[in-house]
Amino acid sequence: MRRPFIAGNWKMNLDRAAVVELAKALAEKAASFADVEIAVFPPSVYIDAVREAAAGTPLGYGAQNFYHEANGAFTGEISAAMLLDLGCDYVILGHSERRHILGETDADVNKKVHAALAAGLVPIVCVGELLSEREAGQTNEVIRAQFDGSLAGLSAEQMTGVVIAYEPVWAIGTGRVATPEQAEEVHRELRKLLTDRYNGHVAESVRIQYGGSVKASNAAELLAKENVDGALVGGASLKADEFLGIVAAAHR
Ligand code: PEP
Repeated sequence: MRRPFIAGNWKMNLDRAAVVELAKALAEKAASFADVEIAVFPPSVYIDAVREAAAGTPLGYGAQNFYHEANGAFTGEISAAMLLDLGCDYVILGHSERRHILGETDADVNKKVHAALAAGLVPIVCVGELLSEREAGQTNEVIRAQFDGSLAGLSAEQMTGVVIAYEPVWAIGTGRVATPEQAEEVHRELRKLLTDRYNGHVAESVRIQYGGSVKASNAAELLAKENVDGALVGGASLKADEFLGIVAAAHR
């Protein structure tokens, strides 16, 4: 049984006061949903504020990115050790905004995945096609290339420590959510890739989140799909009630 995992990506939003208020509201309720893994991803400068608000509660947290090198002259970057120092358990890698706005490649993501696992962080590795790619019938091809490139060189054991997020780029921040059938079709393809590249045990173990305009009102039908194990949520994770509504949809 894969434990449902609902993650909130706060992106470059909120200020310290709003972060504290939101994290406290979520931390207060997290224990009511013990069967759901819940984590938030604040801007890095506010991770310490979330750490304080989440202390002693099941609310998890992590970073939206990091740099794969251990230390040195990498101005503006943050290492895995620094994230561990802040108590992070997770890191989001290969988000489409990093791929398409900031130019991250599969090779960059792959270095980060290896560094995250070596440090003991759980990477949430995002894959997803552009609208033009979907319309050209290239969705599976794109997903396969991102999977093979971003996850290259992992052992079966390492792979079980990875969470995959399927995030069609055309559904992110657009209000245009994939239908449950569209999501399930790609999740099934990802599960098949896990079997082909690794084995049945890995395929059954790895959690695959859906991301792209998930809200409290559409979460239940997406999460009801056999291969949808959770959600990576952007906009709707900035409001406690809305995010908790998504968590409640994952709660059995
Ligand atoms: C995201 O950024 O990962 C995301 C899914 O955003 P939204 O929920 O706003 O579409």
